[in-house]
Amino acid sequence: MYRVVNKQALAKRLLIYFLPLLLIGVLIGAPFLLLFLGSFSLLVWHYHQLYRLSDWLLNQRSFNPPEGEGAWEQVFEGIYHLQHRNRKKRNELADLIRRFRDGAEAVPDAVVVLQRDLSIVWCNQLALKILGLQWPADHGQRLDNLIRDPKFAKYMHQEKFDEALELENTHSVEQVLEYRVMPYASSQLMVVVRDVTRLKQLEQMRKDFVANVSHELRTPLTVVTGYLEMFDGDMMPPPAIWNKAQNTMLEQCKRMDSLVNQLLSLSRIEGVRRQDNDKAINVPQLLAYIRTEAQSLNQDKGHELTFEVDTELDIKGAEDELRSAFSNLVFNAIHYTKPGGKITVSWLRVDNQAVFSVVDNGDGIAPEHINRLTERFYRVDKARSRTTGGSGLGLAITKHVLTRHDSHLQIKSKLGEGSCFSFSFSKEKLVESGNSKTLESHKSATIK
Ligand code: ADP
Repeated sequence: MYRVVNKQALAKRLLIYFLPLLLIGVLIGAPFLLLFLGSFSLLVWHYHQLYRLSDWLLNQRSFNPPEGEGAWEQVFEGIYHLQHRNRKKRNELADLIRRFRDGAEAVPDAVVVLQRDLSIVWCNQLALKILGLQWPADHGQRLDNLIRDPKFAKYMHQEKFDEALELENTHSVEQVLEYRVMPYASSQLMVVVRDVTRLKQLEQMRKDFVANVSHELRTPLTVVTGYLEMFDGDMMPPPAIWNKAQNTMLEQCKRMDSLVNQLLSLSRIEGVRRQDNDKAINVPQLLAYIRTEAQSLNQDKGHELTFEVDTELDIKGAEDELRSAFSNLVFNAIHYTKPGGKITVSWLRVDNQAVFSVVDNGDGIAPEHINRLTERFYRVDKARSRTTGGSGLGLAITKHVLTRHDSHLQIKSKLGEGSCFSFSFSKEKLVESGNSKTLESHKSATIK
């Protein structure tokens, strides 16, 4: 237990030290000499203790002070206790900082702590990655010098942080970041940066979707309304005009009906995964139906249609969904290939996988469109697609169907040369039924 330095005890010590000296001095007749010698030795002894203390403070690494003697015992002990208290406080503080840093590293956002003059005090790993900061090189640098965007500088200087700031990332292209700033500690700021690119894209997709649906419905509605307004209730138009009007209105109504059906099927397949998603499907039979439909669709264009089908190759899945995936690709090839073109549809076993492909020698698709074809309503040539009755939803549906069947659509195309749309199903999806026969013998006849 640490004992506090006590004045009375010190006085008692001095008395105990000097009194005998004084008595001896009086006895031998030299009291002042003895008092002087006693004071001098006491001074030397104190200097020695001071030297030990300063040597320990400056030169020694030991946490414990040297053993104290006499009155210095309490001083050394006091220092020891102070050290101990400080060490405990330091550990607690280090613990607190570590916990804060661990917490800041665990959040999925970039965090930068700034002084009020915007110089960087600390940042987490994600900030280094997202904002391209360098540590420790950027310690003390001003953040508005490193994020070189006038909007960011303005936002930071006006000091109104109620609303978050959204900016394109100056460090990496096509990334939108959201900056939130909040007061931190007594005089610091904390900047939390979140990647909101995906959110922005979704918001844009939602807006586009509503705009597209309205637009797609408005066009046929305008046509139908136009005709209906033309006809007065009492007077029927001449039969020739009426026939044309009726055909056009019917066509437009069918168009709206097909659009609504496609939208419904899209929302259905985007919803929960179905329970009956792994029934055995007779794909060759399904393709035979599609071939018949393709034949009738192909009457005007007269393409050379070839179906190469492995008649033993069945898979597990949802029949209605797969039917639309297969037929979308086949019908698209017919629609987007000039009359007299060549279209080959194949359903084959390749390396223990079932591969479906549709190859045409149509116009092909420019590379910049290919990645966007599966977006809803995306059409390379809007006008042309509308004349084919297309809504731009076919490939979006196909993509979702395939995702639900653990597959994905591959598109290869060259402008002016043609396209190849394909997808495959893994071994686990195949229905094993005896030996698979070869393709050549089951090649369907060329349909013209
Ligand atoms: P749509 O109903 O307009 O056909 P899809 O989603 O089925 O919509 O196709 C999207 C777009 O992809 C089409 O508008 C067309 O521009 C393009 N496309 C699809 N298949 C082909 C193909 N075989 N050849 C060329 N372009 C194609």
